[in-house]
Amino acid sequence: MSFLILIIEDEIPQAEMLRYNLESDGFRTILATTGEEAIGRIGVEVPDLIIVDWMLPERSGIDVCRQLRAKPETQGLPIIMLTARGEEGDRVLGLEAGADDYVIKPYSPREMVARVKALLRRASPNSANQLFEYAGIVLNKETHKVTRDGGVVSLGPTSFKILEALLEHPGRVYSRERLLSRVWGGEIFVEPRTVDVHIRRLRRALNTDGRKEVIRTVRGAGYALDEHQE
Ligand code: CA
Repeated sequence: MSFLILIIEDEIPQAEMLRYNLESDGFRTILATTGEEAIGRIGVEVPDLIIVDWMLPERSGIDVCRQLRAKPETQGLPIIMLTARGEEGDRVLGLEAGADDYVIKPYSPREMVARVKALLRRASPNSANQLFEYAGIVLNKETHKVTRDGGVVSLGPTSFKILEALLEHPGRVYSRERLLSRVWGGEIFVEPRTVDVHIRRLRRALNTDGRKEVIRTVRGAGYALDEHQE
């Protein structure tokens, strides 16, 4: 069965071009021109991945992203944010809103298809049945669920992968570059700073209700799990 991609884009020629390229590569696609329409479509069938344009009439792509992340049935959905805006601040805002990746217009359809595939690879559950535990955090690779002290921790696919890497060797320092190659594979277009944004998100998700910080920032070196930090 082929993956279903939901494209939320109000510029029809752009959306059609994207649709053509994705379908040529074997994907199924649905098109929505507004956030409202997209949310309605998701209610009928949950796609495997969403490509959402930032600039949409009425509700923005950022809002759509936040809304999807707030719902249990869509919180783990891989999301690519599409935008004409390339400012660093915008990129961070897009990622903070819950997007897993960020593509600046104009983009090459081939690059977009490559990113879709990479994100789907990252998001698909590993077949190995393994539990990782550290400091009250339990990560189940098979079900893709994370809990801390028994409470559910909601993570997007990228944050999940980062936590998975850190949990494999608690205490070991992972450099940004190492996390990049581990989580993003050989994608050269991801900046090391993207790792920081996802670490921030991961921390926020793990530290709800005043729970203790477990991710240590090692200045100039990277990140490590450490429950005994001052
Ligand atoms: Ca638009």
